[in-house]
Amino acid sequence: MRLDTFVLHLEDIDKTTARNEITIKLAKLLQRADSQEIDKVCYLVLGRLLPRYRGLEFNLAEKMMIQVVAFAFNKTPDEVHHLFHQTGDLGLVAENLRQQWPEKAKNPPLLAVYQRLLEIAREEGAGSQERKKQKMAALLRLVAPRANRYLVRIPLGKLRLGFSTATVLDALSWMERQDKSLRPDLQYAFNVSADVGRVAWWLKAKGAAKLKAITASPGIPIMPALAEREATLTKILERMNGHALVEPKYDGFRVQIHVGPEPEVEKNKLFSAKEKMVKIFSRSTRDITAMLPEVVADARNLPVESIILDGEAVGFNPKTGTFFTFQETTTRRRKYGVKEAREKIPVRAFIFDVLYYNGETLLRKPFHSRRQIVEQVFAKGKWQHLALTPQTKVQSVAEAHRLFEKYIRRGLEGILVKEANSQYHAGQRKFSWIKFKRAMEGKLADTVDCLLMGYYYGRGKRQQFGIGAILVGVYSPRDGTFYTISKVGTGLTDEQWRMLRRRAQPFVVKKPPKNYQVPDELKPDVWVAPGVVMEISADVISRSPIHSAGFALRFPRFQRFRDKSPTEVTTLEEIRELFRIQEEK
Ligand code: ATP
Repeated sequence: MRLDTFVLHLEDIDKTTARNEITIKLAKLLQRADSQEIDKVCYLVLGRLLPRYRGLEFNLAEKMMIQVVAFAFNKTPDEVHHLFHQTGDLGLVAENLRQQWPEKAKNPPLLAVYQRLLEIAREEGAGSQERKKQKMAALLRLVAPRANRYLVRIPLGKLRLGFSTATVLDALSWMERQDKSLRPDLQYAFNVSADVGRVAWWLKAKGAAKLKAITASPGIPIMPALAEREATLTKILERMNGHALVEPKYDGFRVQIHVGPEPEVEKNKLFSAKEKMVKIFSRSTRDITAMLPEVVADARNLPVESIILDGEAVGFNPKTGTFFTFQETTTRRRKYGVKEAREKIPVRAFIFDVLYYNGETLLRKPFHSRRQIVEQVFAKGKWQHLALTPQTKVQSVAEAHRLFEKYIRRGLEGILVKEANSQYHAGQRKFSWIKFKRAMEGKLADTVDCLLMGYYYGRGKRQQFGIGAILVGVYSPRDGTFYTISKVGTGLTDEQWRMLRRRAQPFVVKKPPKNYQVPDELKPDVWVAPGVVMEISADVISRSPIHSAGFALRFPRFQRFRDKSPTEVTTLEEIRELFRIQEEK
């Protein structure tokens, strides 16, 4: 495929607003890609070069891109800045300037352009910014005006075609079947191997019949299983078919620890041949290996050839045997100053599941067998920063309640009740795992993770922050749309208002994104594209004639920022479920 073909398809998708049409158009583009190209096409249409877990970011901020465009077309950065101000889209600015540029445009193969972009993104070290600028500028001069529009938007993260991984999975089904019928198999494949490019390649190269046979692989994250909620312990135990296991619920952050031979794609890059690969992924499949050196060191010493473990990392003082608070634990989620942070707040990863062991994918094995495997591994040694999560078989509500009380007394968040015979439901929220948290002030059974959709300018004291209230929403995976659920104006400290403004800044857009549904009376002063996720607590959920979700959070309070992708916020279906639980209480 040549670059212009790719760009024409993007332009066509760009002009479309109906979700179904977007999917079909994307399917056509994917159809044209061969098995060498399809993974790259998937990443590019999502505005990336590699899947998120590979951690490669362009690091070409707006300021830098202004310089690139100026340098490419012999303008001053001020001139480009001025044009940018007029249109609000640096891609269009580059397109216009390229139109006036005399050189004849080339139409290189898409793969060649992809390789160039990869090379630019991988520039590191002294002088790398300058090299990036020069290489990117050369690329912009080489290609056609229309291609400029998209090649500028991609590194800026402003492609905004209005879709997510889910749309790509839908489109792959349309590509293969001309309908959505392959979607469940594609979703399964993605849950086992959270790399949409790999799934697309697997489909193109091996065929639809092989999707169910996709295997996990150390180095590629598995979508973590999620927990359901229920109103009471009695109801929870009813759902367990007499096979309930109770575990403490740690309040830290999810870690998926991979140990094994390095995957093909990584050869000669990150690890020396003698060392086993160890990688740690977050709940949203980000690579957080570098943040947890002490866990990495222990994982490397596990007596296994390969393993994928699921657990929760918590700040833990091994001398006193006590936990640090959630706020203290989160200080470990940092890229810089890891050494100092580690001395203050060492973490321990509490392992509660095993998903892969010495070459075998274990997702379909019953939980009690998986537990046996991980117990055997942990019986062979002792580690400071890795431990097995305690687990208790329970028969009665009274027993479950005693455990709940015991863990709350230890400062933990509550319990998880798990069904002993269940498979590991990668990427799914099922009743085989049910969380039961410390009773919250209101009737609400859980907090809600919301997307920041926009904000209103403040009045009075808040005016100085330029932000006085925020509009937040939840997501419906069914139609890929974000719906408003609350206007939040309380629960934030001055510093948090400032932080909110800072976090929102890179996502500010002039028009509401295609997949937002916002009633006129709630239109914010400033629109924020999907990017900032936060946890909100509330007293109750009520039906709402105003909010597009059809529900509203009463007395909403900001709790904390969450490291979740926009599409991982609480779903509309979960809100309905929370409403049901609340009404049953
Ligand atoms: P969710 O992950 O359900 O979307 P969330 O991220 O807000 O929601 P919680 O609702 O607090 O998380 O509960 C689920 C999370 O609890 C898991 O993702 C995991 O990080 C954590 N957790 C702590 N202890 C355990 C345990 N023993 N088993 C499973 N998960 C646990």
